[in-house]
Amino acid sequence: IPVVAIVGRPNVGKSHLFNRIIGEATAIVSDEAGTTRDRHFGRAEWAGHDFWLVDTGGLVEDSNLPMDVAIRRQVMEAIEEADLMLFVCDARVGVHPSDARIMDLLRNSQKPWLLVANKVDNPESADYFEFYRLGVTEVYPVSASNGKGSGDLLDAVVGAIPVTDEEIPEAIRVAVIGRPNVGKSSFVNRLLGEDRLVVHDESGTTRDAIDAPMRYHDNELIFVDTAGLRRQSKIDDGVEFYSSLRTRRAIESSDVCILMIDATEGMQNQDLKIATMAWEAGRGLIMVINKWDLFEDKTDKSAEKFRKDAAEKVPYFKFVPFLFTSAITGQRVTKALDLVLQVQEQRTRRISTSQVNDALEQLIARLQPPQAAGREVKLNYATQVEVSPPTIAVFGNNPEAIPEHYIRYLHNGFREIWGFTGSPLRIILRRKN
Ligand code: GDP
Repeated sequence: IPVVAIVGRPNVGKSHLFNRIIGEATAIVSDEAGTTRDRHFGRAEWAGHDFWLVDTGGLVEDSNLPMDVAIRRQVMEAIEEADLMLFVCDARVGVHPSDARIMDLLRNSQKPWLLVANKVDNPESADYFEFYRLGVTEVYPVSASNGKGSGDLLDAVVGAIPVTDEEIPEAIRVAVIGRPNVGKSSFVNRLLGEDRLVVHDESGTTRDAIDAPMRYHDNELIFVDTAGLRRQSKIDDGVEFYSSLRTRRAIESSDVCILMIDATEGMQNQDLKIATMAWEAGRGLIMVINKWDLFEDKTDKSAEKFRKDAAEKVPYFKFVPFLFTSAITGQRVTKALDLVLQVQEQRTRRISTSQVNDALEQLIARLQPPQAAGREVKLNYATQVEVSPPTIAVFGNNPEAIPEHYIRYLHNGFREIWGFTGSPLRIILRRKN
């Protein structure tokens, strides 16, 4: 969680502003009693962003130190610990010589900061304009005592704090890809519950590259480039479509790809090509066979046959979920969302090193790596080195002597144990005795 630190001279109202922000931005009740808030340290949430707010002045102000030494210490501490600084000045006093020194420290810090002019009790007042003299692009006038301006300040705060790694995995980015007219737009419209992809061309409001968010079982899903769905359906040239930069970009910017096929047309070479593109890019993959309502023999048995025929052409399809839908009747369309969650879970799964090693031992016991002429070939241990997609490094004395088919054996063996359904699984060999 990012840390926002309040800095400034004594008596500019730092602790008032601290209390105002904590009061205004919903204080989150923490599990650990007493960690939520103390006099100088509090947790806040604004517009869905969490952050810690620290009044560093309150932490280090020491009446025994000369003022500028105390301020310097306070600001340096904030620069060290915080992701964003709120530099508070007193609009009634105007620019104070110490303010300019603080500004120099902040400017040299390479960290983001905002200049806050406090005690602007009347928003019409022009008192704070003189702070622009310090050469900042924006001054945020607030009144910590009556709360004026604090909402705008909070908007600026959450806009300026860096997005943390913890926040990113929450949204799962989904790309719906496939040839024109297979039903991608109909499918996404149905999931989003309204005609979201209807763009009003005539009023000139056409927007590009719309990423459409939706919530599903406490997860945020983002359908990437839904504007592109419309665009593509107008280009009636499949080859063009598959090689298009747009499709590549959609794949690159997604976690999970839904590759849609028209059941009545069957699996085409182009479909296989794009599936492989997504798979090799390390994306989760779900095959959706749409227009199932038009398929003559829509039994489970023929669905199974469809799947088997596909897996005969493309071996990795064994590890990919197939779903048979109708975007028109809505049959099994929301099931695709469950699959997205499952596939993303598999793709981000972490297997402990001891489990990976147990599995490797088992597999070696069942089938030894083939020995090369004149030298011993041994695999010693393995560990998962990456997620998204899961990547297992296997260490041995002669990694280049391990043949492709033995790597495939390990791959299938790991899959038997953990599944990783819908996710690529990478195995890399490394030299280590
Ligand atoms: P896109 O180009 O892949 O986005 O395809 P569209 O969503 O524009 O659909 C192309 C055409 O197929 C439209 O006329 C849809 O009404 C129709 N369509 C889409 N899904 C289905 C389906 O599941 N069953 C049937 N019968 N028609 C469908």
